[in-house]
Amino acid sequence: MNGYGGRLLFVDLTTGTSRAEPLAESTARALLGGNGLAARILYDRVPAGVDAFEPANAVVFAVGPITDTTVPGNSRALVASKSPLTGLFFDSTFGGRLPATLKRTGFDAVCITGRAAAPSYLLVTEEGATIKPADALWGRSTRDSVAALVAAEGADADAIAIGPAGERRVRFAAMAHYWRNREGVSGRGGIGAVLGSKNLKAVVVRGARKTTVADAPALKALLDETREPLATGTKALSTYGTPFLVGPINALGALGAFNLKSEVFANARVIGGEEMKAHYHERDTTCLKCPVACGKQYAIGAGEFAGRRAKMPEYETIFALGPMLGIDNPEALILANDLCDLGGMDTISMGVTLAFVAEALERGWLTKADVGVPFGWGDWRGMLRLVEMTAAREGFGDRLAEGAWRLATSVRPDATNLVYAVKRLELPAHSARALKGLSIGYATATRGGSHHDTRPTPQYAPTFDRRGTKDKPAFAMRSQHFTAVGDSLVMCRFTSERGFGLFVGEPYARMVRAVTGWDVTAEELERVGERIINLERLFNVREGMRRADDTLPWRVMHEPIPDGPSAGMHCPPDELREMLDVYYGLRGWDADGVPTPARLAALGL
Ligand code: SF4
Repeated sequence: MNGYGGRLLFVDLTTGTSRAEPLAESTARALLGGNGLAARILYDRVPAGVDAFEPANAVVFAVGPITDTTVPGNSRALVASKSPLTGLFFDSTFGGRLPATLKRTGFDAVCITGRAAAPSYLLVTEEGATIKPADALWGRSTRDSVAALVAAEGADADAIAIGPAGERRVRFAAMAHYWRNREGVSGRGGIGAVLGSKNLKAVVVRGARKTTVADAPALKALLDETREPLATGTKALSTYGTPFLVGPINALGALGAFNLKSEVFANARVIGGEEMKAHYHERDTTCLKCPVACGKQYAIGAGEFAGRRAKMPEYETIFALGPMLGIDNPEALILANDLCDLGGMDTISMGVTLAFVAEALERGWLTKADVGVPFGWGDWRGMLRLVEMTAAREGFGDRLAEGAWRLATSVRPDATNLVYAVKRLELPAHSARALKGLSIGYATATRGGSHHDTRPTPQYAPTFDRRGTKDKPAFAMRSQHFTAVGDSLVMCRFTSERGFGLFVGEPYARMVRAVTGWDVTAEELERVGERIINLERLFNVREGMRRADDTLPWRVMHEPIPDGPSAGMHCPPDELREMLDVYYGLRGWDADGVPTPARLAALGL
């Protein structure tokens, strides 16, 4: 089958057994790979109601038909599981070289269930799975672990590992892959903690199989046509990385600050892309065969932290650990980002949880004695200490490790009003108040507070009506189909959006036709996206999720943005209710947000 390894690998850590199954072409065409395949596997194999940390939960690593082809941004893999943070379906992607190497094993997806008796790592090769001891790695950072595993398994092997946070089941634990100077972090949703609960420190892959493409000249013609728009569209990313977004989004009045008490941050300039590049840029880093090189290695040249080298904090990290905490010290952000990566934690959840703490302290809902270390708005030293304590579940870090929502419920009943989260997932740096497409987008997202369900990118265009609600349910729906298809191909969002379009369209159909040889149309791909969203929704409905869960943070619904260019904007409950009615109608779901049998049948589910 062109574009596919054609095999799925199922590993049971409890019994230490594994088996390969063929991937049916009909399944591949209906779901593509990555996100779609993982949604199908999790729906079929994870029992309803199981706790995310029980052995019966599964973690799926999956690639797609374009992985390890010549498509720019093709070395991207998807990890999915039932999230310990949301209790719902969750998926997260990462880049580097590992995704291409996983494809070379000839397995399109690896599904891991059970729990190993002792710390272990999983080696996947063309022959299948081997479970190996990892006692010596337990307690070590993500980076040290990956380096040790590559040294043990050979330079052609790639590894992704959890850190101490995953071992201790921090509910927003991540996993990280390192290749040359490039990090690929699967950050959100706490899947690193699920691996920790399985006693699985890392997954290592090694393989040499080639991915065949049905029509190489057609693929080349498409890529030749998209080279120029891709280069133009990614210029800022190539130059500055994602921190280039700080300035424009702050200028829009949409950069959350002080736990959303404001959406303008006075000192945004010093933590934005231009200033960061001027002071800290050392070199660019890139995923395998990607011309964009959006990653940057930073080095601190002078002052208290002179000599420290670390990955550039992404825009989302800057938001969560910077303005949300009233912190404008760029070096503190570089160090905090590094601490999160090494410990294996999602920076967004970490920062937004700390923002809740800062406001709870301000209101006297928490005391200094509760927190154990000095902390408050702008206190970057306290922030760094609390990040360390969270990874170790030390002192108050044990409560932080539960995420903002669970922490708030332990403080006082109405404290959740201060939590910036949807479905218990802390929100990223794209405003739920200033972008109405994200108001409905976040509320209906499978994952909750994720900007990779409904995309912010189209909404920043000057021609986009970000203030009105008209057509926003339809926008959110199409955008969700787009991300589901993109994460099933599996393609980097940056190269995808800037080279091939912001919605499912003819360039993607040409891509899939050229790689697989199937006569797919853009309309068929749109339905693939819809099928995947419905599959995810079915998983969540089975867990008890209904309309009442499709909601927004209290502050987003009840407190208008106080000042700045977006002053007055919010999404009151009535407005959300109206958008939900339209959205469910468009989706063919009932009034409680449950997919109807008729719609499911039409999608072949
Ligand atoms: S654009 Fe950036 S994240 Fe995407 S593949 Fe290229 S280097 Fe990796």
